[in-house]
Amino acid sequence: MTISQRDSRVIWHPFTQMEIEPEAVGIVRGQGSLLFDEHGKSYVDGVSSWWVNLHGHGHPAIIERITEQLNRLEQVIFAGFTHEPAVELAERLLEILPGYLAKVFYTDNGSTATEAAIKMAIQYWHNKGAPRTKIISFADSYHGDTVGAISASGRSQFSIPFAPLLFDVIHIAPPYEGSQDQSLNELRNALSHKPAAFIFEPLIQGVAGMRLHDRAGLDVLIGECKKQNVITIADEVMTGFGRTGPNFACELLSNNPDIICLSKGLTGGFMPLGATVVSQDIYEAFLANDRSKMFFHGHSYTANPLACTAALASTELLRNPQCAENRRRIENSHKGFAKVLANDPRVENVRHLGTILAFDVKTNATTSYTNELRDKLYIHFLNKGVLLRPLGNVVLCSSAILYY
Ligand code: PMP
Repeated sequence: MTISQRDSRVIWHPFTQMEIEPEAVGIVRGQGSLLFDEHGKSYVDGVSSWWVNLHGHGHPAIIERITEQLNRLEQVIFAGFTHEPAVELAERLLEILPGYLAKVFYTDNGSTATEAAIKMAIQYWHNKGAPRTKIISFADSYHGDTVGAISASGRSQFSIPFAPLLFDVIHIAPPYEGSQDQSLNELRNALSHKPAAFIFEPLIQGVAGMRLHDRAGLDVLIGECKKQNVITIADEVMTGFGRTGPNFACELLSNNPDIICLSKGLTGGFMPLGATVVSQDIYEAFLANDRSKMFFHGHSYTANPLACTAALASTELLRNPQCAENRRRIENSHKGFAKVLANDPRVENVRHLGTILAFDVKTNATTSYTNELRDKLYIHFLNKGVLLRPLGNVVLCSSAILYY
């Protein structure tokens, strides 16, 4: 029996309708931008395996560092104990993130990174003795799949079954080209309800269909929140580590968020890890002489030493001039291809930012995640040896940055 056949007997896959979708492709090896299946067929990993794989599969520099760490310490409880890779990684992150950020709280994926940020924001106000619980977010945002993260996200097909459980969120229009004023007006209205925090995906809304914000429009929203002391949370789970051009999308903004959530590319795609990085002001609201104000949150694998080591190796690669060079090469190649696509009558809304390229395939059906074109496109590309996961009729490419 093949891996795919054995899989279908025992495994339930994420975001997969097990009844109708084809058997999962059995992958036996990855190298650079390629994945190889059990029959020897290769696929270009055009989605960096869900945006995690930054430098290509099996990068030797990351393998070497993890192997070395494996012989020293594989895991240790992270309450009351610490270790070199976690400390060094926090130092490194604070060095490359905007300067005002002061403390790193580790989790183990993107959903828990945002979930921790939301809980921090709510407990911040509780600890200050002035409780606030309302969250503002964009109407079509996506911040993960745990109940808190889907609560904070826009309402969609993903959230329908859980509607009665989701906490109240004030949704505002994102600052897309043409909707900046509406967005600002809705934010001002939302701010009058004394919210705890505003959470947003900076500059590009991923699951909503790779929709780009107007940069100045987003900056104004963050500035308005700051004026009213509302905590701003940038969910850089997808945009972090060079996807939008600079290391972090927030570098393209002039207003600084109070909390930044990281995951996906953090370890270069080798190990699960999340980080919620906060300003000194947020951190200090949790300090007291008794335990009542501490942050009651933690995961068993928090700051796993192997994951932190992979992140150290990956962030070192990001500093390599070859990485910047390849990033520019991908950006230029996207720019060139965008021009070709712009003349193709079958597609529209061609857009690119950093190493991300996306376009809509024209369709009469209302665009959505379950658009029937999605399956046709997915299979078409797969047959051609390219792994892309269209969001409905939206085709997107997020290439690995540093091939070798
Ligand atoms: N936030 C954003 C912006 C994301 O794109 C994702 C994942 N696609 C998440 C949070 C959740 O991350 P994870 O899948 O690691 O839980």
